[in-house]
Amino acid sequence: MGSRSPRWSTVPGVADILILGGGFGGLETSNRLRSALGDAHNITVIDRRDRFTIGAAKLWHIAGLRSLDDSTRPLSALRERGIDYIEADIDGIEPDTRTVRTSAGSHRADFLVIALGASFFPAHVEELRPPAYNLYDPGSVRDIRAALEPLDEGRIAVTIMGLPYKCPPAPYEAAFLIDQYLREQGRRDRVELEVYTVQPSPLPVAGPEASRRVAETLGSRGIALYSEHEPARIDSEGHEIHFANGHRAGFDLLLGVPKHVAPKVVAESRLAGPKGWITTDPSTLLTEFERVYAIGDCTSIPNAVGEIPKAGVFAEAQGRVVADRIIADIGDGDGPTFDGLGYCFLEFAGGEAAKIEGDFLAEPRPDVSLVGPNAAIFRDKETFVSERLDAWL
Ligand SMILES: Cc1cc2nc3c(=O)[nH]c(=O)nc-3n(C[C@H](O)[C@H](O)[C@H](O)COP(=O)(O)OP(=O)(O)OC[C@H]3O[C@@H](n4cnc5c(N)ncnc54)[C@H](O)[C@@H]3O)c2cc1C
Repeated sequence: MGSRSPRWSTVPGVADILILGGGFGGLETSNRLRSALGDAHNITVIDRRDRFTIGAAKLWHIAGLRSLDDSTRPLSALRERGIDYIEADIDGIEPDTRTVRTSAGSHRADFLVIALGASFFPAHVEELRPPAYNLYDPGSVRDIRAALEPLDEGRIAVTIMGLPYKCPPAPYEAAFLIDQYLREQGRRDRVELEVYTVQPSPLPVAGPEASRRVAETLGSRGIALYSEHEPARIDSEGHEIHFANGHRAGFDLLLGVPKHVAPKVVAESRLAGPKGWITTDPSTLLTEFERVYAIGDCTSIPNAVGEIPKAGVFAEAQGRVVADRIIADIGDGDGPTFDGLGYCFLEFAGGEAAKIEGDFLAEPRPDVSLVGPNAAIFRDKETFVSERLDAWL
């Protein structure tokens, strides 16, 4: 099929497809391409990490529900699926020539897919020193668990430090799961649990109903919610958060969610939009550069209330579209478009989860609704996690 498409091919009939990032978006794209394309075409994934860990499982580990080892797989397993994997730091992207500079040399491609995710705002990371931890950092998960286990009394503060941040429900899920864990341990009455957010309500992106349900559930479980609380400074040594509105709050354990920023290599490239994120065509996910696609958390796709949430389900759905577009392009077709349909799980603990689902690109506002919570949706979430790991690695 490739021999009919010399316009994309450096070597006639052979497409070199380079995928930057082996996370949700990159793993879906590479695996889907490999299942559809013959061995003639080269598919390569570059990532600085040697393992993929699914986000939801980090919270299960913290709450003592499941070991992290059950939800992490080595990226080298891609090779057994006929996908080249290079463990390297990506230092430069030249989109006009589809050339990438890495710690393992330079690579040039016929198709380039950028799926580099989001990074943490360095100044926020700097502030998170024990007993304050980065809730979203895979490297902190075991430390958080170790700090939570002996905590017999005191205050735990889950703190959203700035916008945007990925998986908007995750900090609330963390609070629900920790609440459940402490109740099971018989320690909940001695530990105060608080959630601080910079936003006016828990989940503006998911609509008022989802926000109301989250706020109600927090209240019913004795978890205090402080909205419009932006930390000006976190004093880890003094165990105190200083908020921009003048409020101060003490803590014995702080789980912070730093503001997210575009990865440095993206922000410094010609792909960067005004805030560093990549602007892609919301339907085709093409950048302004020929045969250069961008998907997932490193992009900013505007919608009626801001932007499409940074979440694995969207990175994956976009990866599917991009893989199918590349397959179609190699075969001289048109390929599908991204429609903004998707869902996010919202785990309420106790084996129950809800789903916020609908059209996140609808106008004049996202047309999404909250379904559940119930045990069936929680089982869907468990299946979602195990199916992804088995399908990709
Ligand atoms: C606690 C938690 C719970 C979550 N729960 C859910 C959930 O239930 N459902 C859901 O849909 N989403 C969830 N998410 C969000 C989800 O994990 C992300 O939105 C998703 O991983 C984004 O996919 P991506 O492909 O855009 O980026 P990522 O999966 O982050 O992958 C990006 C990859 O690029 C690599 N990379 C970046 N820069 C470089 C560089 N310069 N050189 C080399 N490699 C580089 C990184 O190492 C990384 O592997 C959760 C996240 C967290 C933290």
